[in-house]
Amino acid sequence: MRKKSIKDINVENEKIFIRVDFNVPVKNGTIQDDTRIVAALPTIEYALNEGASLILASHLGRPKGRIVSEMSLKPVKFRLSELLNKDVLFAPDCVGEEARKIAENLKPGEVLLLENLRFHPEEKENDPDFSKKLASYARIYVNDAFGTAHRAHASTVGITHYVDEKVCGFLMEKELKYLVDTLQNPERPFAAILGGAKVSDKIDVIENLLNKVDKLFIGGAMAYTFLKSMGKNVGNSKVEEDKLSLAKEIVEKAKEKGVKIFLPVDNLFSSEFSENGDIRYISVDEDPPDGWMALDIGEKTIQIYLNELSDCKTVVWNGPMGVFEMDKFSKGTMAIAEKISQLDAITIIGGGDSVSAVHKAGVAEKITHISTGGGASLQLLAGKTLPAIEVLDDI
Ligand code: ADP
Ligand code: MG
Repeated sequence: MRKKSIKDINVENEKIFIRVDFNVPVKNGTIQDDTRIVAALPTIEYALNEGASLILASHLGRPKGRIVSEMSLKPVKFRLSELLNKDVLFAPDCVGEEARKIAENLKPGEVLLLENLRFHPEEKENDPDFSKKLASYARIYVNDAFGTAHRAHASTVGITHYVDEKVCGFLMEKELKYLVDTLQNPERPFAAILGGAKVSDKIDVIENLLNKVDKLFIGGAMAYTFLKSMGKNVGNSKVEEDKLSLAKEIVEKAKEKGVKIFLPVDNLFSSEFSENGDIRYISVDEDPPDGWMALDIGEKTIQIYLNELSDCKTVVWNGPMGVFEMDKFSKGTMAIAEKISQLDAITIIGGGDSVSAVHKAGVAEKITHISTGGGASLQLLAGKTLPAIEVLDDI
């Protein structure tokens, strides 16, 4: 799956359609966090320096195919203009006469931002006519929106059928480098840490990584389905009853493959799902009090996990170790984040909540790669391809 990048083609004096991810939080017309806009700058600035003119397109929120003024990309135009230190043109509809005219008259070094793609239902429907309209602005298509790469929409898949060249941007390239290349060719020992809410969300990820890793650490709510399947009393902890036999199979498979699989040996139990209950560390061989639930991995477990991570050279982490949103149950997750950040290893984090956890721990700068896409990163971790990547030109 080696795909061409914008660096592999000539973009001088070309018009380029760049699908970016400007899906930023906006409140009362003010952008709350411009991380995604900043993240797209390397591709945008490179193309401008090379003498291209750019048509930028994105979605924002879920307007469900209708015009919703709170979900306009207009605020992004102003922020982008500040960041680039140049005027950014804006088309109040991503298709139609006005957008077409502005795009047609763009000169090298000029930037046009189109209004929210999802104001049109055809975007999510991957409609061919709508795709053609988007494609008509440019000869070259660049996809730098990893977060939507698992969706086959008009601006991510349909459009590619009607352009001459289709390549990835720098953000996309980096995601693929770590979530595909590194996984295929990891420096060993290679560890995966998996946690989060449900086994069912992550089955494909677990099964794919089982074929690749040397060590597999399980935490989060998912761990209690595993522990219960081994006959442990997990009290009122979150368990997926219909996944008990699958959990058992996974543990057996790991043994067959020589993967060292680690499950919690103790957990932090609470009398209720809040920070107001009584709490106690309880070993997996002890019975918790009636009605109590495990909301974090225990201190002994943390020690074992940290020790076993010490010699790892590649680490992939998806899914928090506990209900880290509540400080009382964030110790396991914070300890893992801290440890990973100190390793002399390639460290990769995927998944919306795991990424928040790493930011909460304040160690984001010390992580090799923090994925910008939740669903898309999970799909790659599961060993699957992404529709929006598949359609790009091969090297
Ligand atoms: P990601 O977004 O990183 O893929 P998930 O969405 O799978 O992660 O899981 C994150 C959620 O799992 C968090 O909201 C967290 O509170 C919850 N969680 C973790 N451990 C537990 C637990 N022991 N009991 C209940 N919920 C848990
Ligand atoms: Mg999540």
